[in-house]
Amino acid sequence: MRVQSTPEHTHVSTPASPALDVLKHALFLDFDGTLVDIADRPHAVIVSDALRTLLAALHTVTALALISGRTIADIQSLLGDQFAHIAGVHGHEMKYGGEIRRDEARHSPIPFAAAEIRALQRNDRMPALVEDKGASLALHYRHAPRAEQEVRRIARDIATRRGLRVLEGKMVIELISGPHTKGDALMNFMRTPPFAGRTPIMIGDDITDEHGFRAARAAGGFGILVGAARKTEAAYRLDDPAAVHAWLQAGLAQ
Ligand SMILES: [Mg+2]
Repeated sequence: MRVQSTPEHTHVSTPASPALDVLKHALFLDFDGTLVDIADRPHAVIVSDALRTLLAALHTVTALALISGRTIADIQSLLGDQFAHIAGVHGHEMKYGGEIRRDEARHSPIPFAAAEIRALQRNDRMPALVEDKGASLALHYRHAPRAEQEVRRIARDIATRRGLRVLEGKMVIELISGPHTKGDALMNFMRTPPFAGRTPIMIGDDITDEHGFRAARAAGGFGILVGAARKTEAAYRLDDPAAVHAWLQAGLAQ
């Protein structure tokens, strides 16, 4: 299985293709754009039986966690509830060993931001598809790419007034409360079994996965970027979700 070294790391003289070692590694997997191809709308993604089988097999033999911007409920509706370890909404929701913990902010500004957004929707001034994830509000504009600047302007305006953070992803701008990132989620998992003591590998495609790549490297592991080469903290790259499936399958077969 060929894993390409990213341009930022071409100085590495022997970019060994790191095969997955199910006994040694801890796998942290993003979902959209990493395990499944991105769809026009978040609920239109296709999860194949082959992917479900692959993930279930990996889950039984290695330390595996899903780290997504989606809610845990959403991930479980797509993949089933057999996974013991999931980070949802960029780490705001954590499922450890089957138990879900949510970071419930007592004075979250999210409901106020949501009310503002609903007002914009009523006046036909919100071009994005709005997803309320509790700890965050995701403004999806994949169906209306020309609205990007307007969506960004609205998001920044509300974020500034409500004290929220803006998190940009692929065709989505998120308003999020609190400081959590996918890197924090990875580090939290790494402190607990079955992850502790293993070498972390973060696989992701989006800008928000860069925190995960950085955390994996800080913990002695590495990141694998999915998609076209870009400036990244990941040490390696795979072309698309199909290449990720093949890489995972090869590790499983060893
Ligand atoms: Mg992704």
